[in-house]
Amino acid sequence: MNIRKVHILIVIVMAGIIGYFGITHISQPSCQPVRQVDLDETSLVISRQTDLNETFSVLPRMSYPQPFVDKPQRTDVLLMSPWLAPIMWEGTFNRDILNAQYRQKNFVVGVATFAVKKYVRFIEGFLGSANKFFLSGHRVNFYLFTDQPEKVPSMKLAPEKKLFTITVQSYSRWQDISMNRMDIISNHIRTHWHYEVDYLYSMDIDVQMFEHIGVEIIDTLVGTISSWQYTKPRDSNSYERRPESRAAIPSGEGDFYYAASFYGGSVSEVYKLTTACFKGVTEDRANGIEAKWHEESHLNKYLLYHKPTRLLSPEYYWDEELPQPQIIRVKRLSSVRKDLKDVRSEMPDPHFEL
Ligand code: UDP
Ligand code: MN
Repeated sequence: MNIRKVHILIVIVMAGIIGYFGITHISQPSCQPVRQVDLDETSLVISRQTDLNETFSVLPRMSYPQPFVDKPQRTDVLLMSPWLAPIMWEGTFNRDILNAQYRQKNFVVGVATFAVKKYVRFIEGFLGSANKFFLSGHRVNFYLFTDQPEKVPSMKLAPEKKLFTITVQSYSRWQDISMNRMDIISNHIRTHWHYEVDYLYSMDIDVQMFEHIGVEIIDTLVGTISSWQYTKPRDSNSYERRPESRAAIPSGEGDFYYAASFYGGSVSEVYKLTTACFKGVTEDRANGIEAKWHEESHLNKYLLYHKPTRLLSPEYYWDEELPQPQIIRVKRLSSVRKDLKDVRSEMPDPHFEL
């Protein structure tokens, strides 16, 4: 091999080495830092790893009436909000299809409810009816917060339902008991629910269920339209309008009036909601003001600026005191009539004639 050939060979080998390392370098993913899991209050929940395997579940074959685009199931009620959140009404969905879809996901739903002071008397009616009608056949953990755990009746629940009793302190004002629910829920998400459940709903204890409340309530952020105010124009309903309160909604604004007795969603969304609402409550306290309808006013403000992804019609929280209009075909859940003077603490609410 003469010198010239050796040179050519060296040049080819060098080019190969440079080419190889050059290409390998280019084809490497750019060396960016791995994203940190965001544990701040805007996103607490570490999401599960996305499952990329190819086994996907198939719905069972089912027989049901065919849907037609030119034949709406109901024409007497609003089925969709202006931001395209569906509103749940009897006669608009097929529970069998929803159940079949939901079963594939194996979710656990948590229900947070409070029975403090005299409200322990409502536990039995609540749990008895919820055991029968709330997400029947699906996994539900009831979390009952009470100052009197010894008063919780021992009840036989369906095998897929569990009851957890958690002791909480009582407050002298009923408004504080009601408002502090937001704080307790937010804290309990951090410490427990974050790991224990997929969806979380907060419900009043002074209610009973009379009809099925099924998986149609499951979505990312869910509010219930109040049975008292669903026909009222926005400026005459009960929003907090005083600008000094953190719950204030300026006049001319507002979608629906939402009931604080029943709301929920994914754990991370309920965490954001309860944390934000309780922050508002705390700031109001520091400023010597209390919103007109307590945590419900803060909830209404939150849901105005964080639109719910699904709405429950007043069927899902019907007040027994109201005459039942035609559009309410079923009363799924109703408040229990209560003697306010008896069940609430002595301090009168300035907004409520006792
Ligand atoms: N609550 C309670 N003890 C009280 C007051 C309120 O446990 O002394 C809880 C209970 O879960 C109740 C909820 O706070 O359902 C909301 O209060 P309430 O039902 O009196 O409000 P309303 O539905 O009448 O607006
Ligand atoms: Mn209530």
